[in-house]
Amino acid sequence: MNIHEYQAKALLKGFGAPVSNGVAIFTPAEAESAARELGGPLWVVKSQIHAGGRGKGKFKEESAGEKGGVRLAKSIEEVKAFAGQMLGSTLVTVQTGPAGKQVNRLYIEDGSDIEKEFYLSILVDRATSRIAFVVSTEGGMDIEEVAHSAPEKIKTFSVDPATGIMPHHGLTIAKALGLSGALAKEAYDVASKLYAAFVAKDMAMLEVNPLIVTKDGHLKVLDAKVSFDSNSLYRHPDVVALRDETEEDQKEIEASKFDLAYIALDGTIGCMVNGAGLAMATLDIIQLYGESPANFLDVGGGASEEKVTAAFKIITSDPKVKGILVNIFGGIMKCDVIARGVIAAVKAVGLQVPLVVRLEGTNVELGKQIIRESGLNVIPADDLDDAAQKIVKAVKEAV
Ligand code: ADP
Ligand code: MG
Repeated sequence: MNIHEYQAKALLKGFGAPVSNGVAIFTPAEAESAARELGGPLWVVKSQIHAGGRGKGKFKEESAGEKGGVRLAKSIEEVKAFAGQMLGSTLVTVQTGPAGKQVNRLYIEDGSDIEKEFYLSILVDRATSRIAFVVSTEGGMDIEEVAHSAPEKIKTFSVDPATGIMPHHGLTIAKALGLSGALAKEAYDVASKLYAAFVAKDMAMLEVNPLIVTKDGHLKVLDAKVSFDSNSLYRHPDVVALRDETEEDQKEIEASKFDLAYIALDGTIGCMVNGAGLAMATLDIIQLYGESPANFLDVGGGASEEKVTAAFKIITSDPKVKGILVNIFGGIMKCDVIARGVIAAVKAVGLQVPLVVRLEGTNVELGKQIIRESGLNVIPADDLDDAAQKIVKAVKEAV
């Protein structure tokens, strides 16, 4: 789960991290009082969307002006004008895709005098099973680009969970960023606070780009991008309360209500599979035969008929889907339950695209019989290979 920059900063402030003062607003009318409250003389008007690259982004609407999604304002009038232009407009950045994202919230923040911009992020490193830091002097830039063009400018290290963050980690960061004296001490202090927030809130990633040195010689978190481990949300109601569903894929939200593991993808073949391994294999084999999957969907081990019906509805609600492949290995999950769920869903929402069903395992004969007797136009398949070829062929013939 992701949150907005202003929410991330408020959270990090709670752990003592240095952030600027700011006010989140939803309407142009709120811009003036926010700007007055902050006092100036420099303000920054920042688009709040769940995507980075806002500064260099462009609005689709001409009425939003030439400037990007993060704008420096030198007067209250300018703050008001920018807010009027940006709210409701669609911002396109390298991370939003060409469709862009509508800006419905702005963060009005005190402007900082920037001496230097650094990059710092904390994430879970699966290779070492530890929390890792990534730091670089090349702040404000795309870190993927730095990794590609100047990998020597990126320093990474991981933290032993038994000791937590230690002063020597602070020294490593200070050295990588070329900081000494009081600023080196601050580097350890800031890193410790960010690390504490990361652990306490079960974050998956915390990216501060840029972490700045101000003209008066202090470190500050100028941008913050945070994502949380969804499996831990049950123990963080305060984090769940920050959720902005307008930023999320509606199908993924619907799927999470039914406890379905669903990820939207770009292709044309909707997949309903049980078990993550079988789901991955299904995606691969669709690709092998020349089409692309529209989603990853694992209905889980003991799915009920209702869950299967919900899953099917989510798949058919996606206009990109030109064909559906149901691929189930019945173990704990019984094939007749799947068959009933699919039929109930087809009856409820109709079937506009070809549907291939491959069932194997517990109660397979009963499952096949239920589908045969339903009179629905279902293409049966014998095995994974057969199923993939049939759905790819059906989709190709349909267009
Ligand atoms: P994004 O990464 O989405 O482009 P940032 O928050 O990093 O958004 O802002 C882009 C740039 O705008 C920063 O690299 C920084 O130079 C400038 N900036 C952002 N916030 C402030 C601020 N409060 N004061 C001064 N400059 C800022
Ligand atoms: Mg940034």
